[in-house]
Amino acid sequence: MTATIAAVATPPGEGSISVIRISGPEAAAVADRAFHARSGRRIEQAAGYTALFGTVCRPSSGEAVDEAVALVFRAPHSYTGEDVVELSCHGGTAVTREVLHCVMDAGAAPAQAGEFTKRAFLNGKMDLAQAESVMQLISAQGRAAARAALGTLGGRLSRDVGGVREDLLSLAAHLSAFADYPEDEIPELREEQVEEALSRAAAELDTLLGRFDTGKLIREGVTAVIAGRPNVGKSALMNLLAGEERSIVADLEGTTRDVVEETVRIAGVTLRLADTAGLRETDDPVEKIGVQRARSRLDGAQLILAVFDRSRPLDPEDERLLDACDGRPAVAVVNKSDLEQRLDLSPIRKKIPFCAEICARDGSGAENLEQAVSQALGTAGFDAGAPLLISDRQRDCCSRALAAVQEALEAVRTGVTLDAVTVCIQDALGALMELTGERVGEAVVDEVFSRFCVGK
Ligand code: GDP
Repeated sequence: MTATIAAVATPPGEGSISVIRISGPEAAAVADRAFHARSGRRIEQAAGYTALFGTVCRPSSGEAVDEAVALVFRAPHSYTGEDVVELSCHGGTAVTREVLHCVMDAGAAPAQAGEFTKRAFLNGKMDLAQAESVMQLISAQGRAAARAALGTLGGRLSRDVGGVREDLLSLAAHLSAFADYPEDEIPELREEQVEEALSRAAAELDTLLGRFDTGKLIREGVTAVIAGRPNVGKSALMNLLAGEERSIVADLEGTTRDVVEETVRIAGVTLRLADTAGLRETDDPVEKIGVQRARSRLDGAQLILAVFDRSRPLDPEDERLLDACDGRPAVAVVNKSDLEQRLDLSPIRKKIPFCAEICARDGSGAENLEQAVSQALGTAGFDAGAPLLISDRQRDCCSRALAAVQEALEAVRTGVTLDAVTVCIQDALGALMELTGERVGEAVVDEVFSRFCVGK
């Protein structure tokens, strides 16, 4: 028999409420042993979607531990598809632990990481892609990432993939029927029709894959670095973006000696931003370390904000930075737009295609910077409402499906037997069914849910 499991569903720490979730065939019976409703009603008698107020007690001694509200859900109308009772108690660390212990003493087993969502998947409440989106939705930091995860949770990706799968399935069925029952006068599909259907499927899968990298970027954010020679306004820019006085702004060259880090959001993307020392030649041992760190950050960054001073002509250190940015995702931030221009922008534009003129001191031109950043990262036209692959596992399934469809196309074009085409289509179908979890090994399922935390 399936075990009845329990765990704290809310984050650790103090809050006004903690929720202890109990799920399984014995959920109501377990809850009744640890919870006594003020009205005297038993949870086993309560209908789904009802709430009871009462006391949580130790099953052994009857000692009261907390007051709580019990929410009752009846299978299959619950998150897991099983009977579920959620006890909302006071949100203290000790109280929450005590309530959980009472529930365990009443007969519940501790839930494994992701076990509630895994049960929801196994009970057909959601497919694997949707289950993965639960995790993404919980960890989403920005609106676009949350919206994309919610779309997948709502089945947007599964429907899109389902559409491609239906097309491929009917194509494979037709090809097999034609090959197996030649005497039944099944109309032969013309080569162009097969090719057209396959090309359509390939294009859809290709679009999904194309959006993956941008989606990942929006979901996970990027490591970025502010670079530039001393006094161009790196610290001022950092402060502008971070919205507080984090870096030391001073007229003294080389003031920013160490790396200052801040997480900021520009144009819907989270940047883990490091403000560094300039790339200057120096004998000062402390500053030397700063310069070395600046270089290594520059090499590892997914985005470089290269800052230049508009009021001064380009110098060798600026040129060194330009060379370091060549071919890298970078934005040239031309600072001090309030001062008279003495900087020739053409050598900068040659090496860095995205350029934003700003005044870090008063924040004017910040919208230019937003625009340039989203162009450099390729997130400018990102539509969070469109279907999106949200895990490396999904991406892998999709790219295997695309490879198989392309192989089928190649087979059609080179006139290989229709049997071979059908085999390729079946491979593609297998990969797509793995994506949604309809055909997937236990190990893969376990791997997906092992990344959840307990209580989800
Ligand atoms: P860093 O060495 O690159 O970090 O440069 P800072 O941010 O410390 O700035 C160096 C100097 O330039 C300071 O005196 C700032 O007040 C000044 N500064 C920064 N941004 C601007 C700007 O947009 N306009 C003007 N006029 N001065 C600025």
